[in-house]
Amino acid sequence: MRYYSTNNRSKYVSLHDAVVNGLAEDRGLYMPEKINRLPEEFFKNIDKMSFQEISFEVAKAFFSDDVDEKSLKDIVYDTLSFDCPVKKVCDDIWTLELFHGPTLAFKDVGARFMARLLEYFIRQEAHQIVNVLVATSGDTGSAVANGFLGVDGIHVYVLYPKGKVSKIQECQFTTLGRNITAIEIDGVFDDCQSLVKSAFMDGDLNKHMKLTSANSINVARFLPQAFYYFNAYARMKANGLAENLVMCVPSGNFGNITAGLFAREMGLPIRRFIAANNANNIFYNYLKTGVYEPKPSVQTIANAMDVGDPSNFARIYDLYNGSHDKISSIISGATYTDDEIKAAVKQCYKDNGYILDPHGACGYQALKDNLKKGETGVFCETAHPAKFKDTIENIINTEIEIPQRLSNFMKGKKQTVELSNKFDDFKTFLLGQ
Ligand SMILES: *Cc1c(COP(=O)(O)O)cnc(C)c1O
Repeated sequence: MRYYSTNNRSKYVSLHDAVVNGLAEDRGLYMPEKINRLPEEFFKNIDKMSFQEISFEVAKAFFSDDVDEKSLKDIVYDTLSFDCPVKKVCDDIWTLELFHGPTLAFKDVGARFMARLLEYFIRQEAHQIVNVLVATSGDTGSAVANGFLGVDGIHVYVLYPKGKVSKIQECQFTTLGRNITAIEIDGVFDDCQSLVKSAFMDGDLNKHMKLTSANSINVARFLPQAFYYFNAYARMKANGLAENLVMCVPSGNFGNITAGLFAREMGLPIRRFIAANNANNIFYNYLKTGVYEPKPSVQTIANAMDVGDPSNFARIYDLYNGSHDKISSIISGATYTDDEIKAAVKQCYKDNGYILDPHGACGYQALKDNLKKGETGVFCETAHPAKFKDTIENIINTEIEIPQRLSNFMKGKKQTVELSNKFDDFKTFLLGQ
């Protein structure tokens, strides 16, 4: 299958190029040239299939032209080494827990899938080593580092702002070693991001080494998230509750929800979506006014959604040919302040005994506020609450147990390279690699 750029629908690249380039040359996002619908038979029997079996069928619909069946199956089954169960929270509201992967965040699936797909391409071509640069304020770095850990032919450099990432998050990418190098930048997240951007544009560096990005705009990271929605539908069908399903997605860059919209275009019977935002309400405003107006992001307790210009908006816009009517008929919005998020965490724990994380709390509350009679709502719980231990414990006055997987990271030895926020220092370091 070929991929076009959201900025130019008439120019195509291969899956290989879309994955290695990340972003199109014209700064657009890659889109698959077609979205294959899955047969009715598949949906009839989906409730009897495992998460892995379902995902393999979905993966084939996108990738079977470019990846042989055996390798694709291998990649899918290796990526999904854990389940994402649905659980009833209250009345008509269920949660889809996406946090059972290696770093307890939903980004694990996309990161691992991308790592294995890139490895597949590198093997085929006897490629030189590919170097992945990623800037992080926490969650992305840990998912990418763990997804790429030990993958042949790829080296990952994670740049993060010194002293500005929580200890729990930091240890998930600084203790790994092997093909993962953590770089502590004396600066803020924006410095890390601009260092990465400058590196991609630097002629000397690109001659010296093959560079690519692993951020959430990459098709190989974003598309596999469609698996989640098929799985949610299957598990709800097994519960006899697949009619009038509403999926509610805590959203920042809108990659996760866009993958859900792709699933719907593949024939998955999701009635509608809700995009739950924190105080960064750009999409919410777009739905209201029809005008997309990016703003600088504001800091919130649901910090993985602190995005002022959601990159996947371009994909949603393209998917529906820019029709605001169409977009707002399928997706509705919600936006919550930190105080409202805290209140949701508190109330949900009191009423249902279920501990939300700050991102999932936006999803839960958006269903509480927007679900209509006859609908069943499923919100994505995108991270384990223990990743936001202090914040959540302060709200519910109860200690949260740290899962084994997280505490194992905390036992590891921190290994980092310390650099200033000057591009020359970063460049000299990379040229020495
Ligand atoms: C990245 C992230 C989000 C936002 O997902 P998008 O695909 O960027 O919309 C939500 N919650 C958590 C915990 C995340 O890490």
